[in-house]
Amino acid sequence: MFIEIKNIEKSYGNQENEIKVMDKITTNIEKGEMCMILGPSGSGKSTFLNAIGGIDKIDAGSICIDGQDIGKMNQKELSLYRRKYVGFIFQFYNLIPNLTVKENIQVCEYLTDSPMDIDELIDTLGLKEHYKKFPSQLSGGQQQRCAIARALIKNPKLLLCDEPTGALDYKTAKEILILMEKVNKNYGTTMLTVTHNDSMKGMAHHVIRIKDGKIYKDYKNKELVEASKLDW
Ligand code: ADP
Repeated sequence: MFIEIKNIEKSYGNQENEIKVMDKITTNIEKGEMCMILGPSGSGKSTFLNAIGGIDKIDAGSICIDGQDIGKMNQKELSLYRRKYVGFIFQFYNLIPNLTVKENIQVCEYLTDSPMDIDELIDTLGLKEHYKKFPSQLSGGQQQRCAIARALIKNPKLLLCDEPTGALDYKTAKEILILMEKVNKNYGTTMLTVTHNDSMKGMAHHVIRIKDGKIYKDYKNKELVEASKLDW
């Protein structure tokens, strides 16, 4: 088992207006799994993802990654965990505007001792024609591909994606999903994706549905729908 999550809890606010954002969430995620986390806005999906990524602290329970409890890590160990294990992709690409595509990716190359081959990655992500361009010269889909390359260059075991297609039109969103499917197959990267797009569940090995901070469905798909065949 790669990720073991047991009874995690998190609240915001004080006693009078406390909101429980995660309420005893328990699940396991296998190595190499493509996992989709679905649920309405405000249900706690991003908080859940950020807890696994070592960004948000939890109030109770445990998150073990490859047998290591990240809740027991000190700041230095947690920072090393984020740096070595985790790649993040967000809805808005967060690229550095005054660096080219290649430079944006290179910034993260130095975070690990065993990065992927940058030229191969640029090729795989279809950025060969664009690697000298600046983010402002790219379409939304191209910027997201650059953000994916930046997250992947350090060869993370875990890729956490928060609404990666949320800002993209239908056609471009599908291109990104096809690319995520390819990355999962080619590199065996474990991927957790938060989305409110219900149709994306078909391409996932594992589907988790969250509502009001609780998991109310947690299942594996027996058959997968190719990303190219998804529709919404
Ligand atoms: P989702 O990703 O499903 O939209 P979130 O995890 O972003 O949900 O948020 C869940 C709830 O927690 C929301 O009600 C949100 O307003 C609240 N919340 C998230 N982050 C904070 C914060 N830093 N301080 C206070 N409330 C927060």
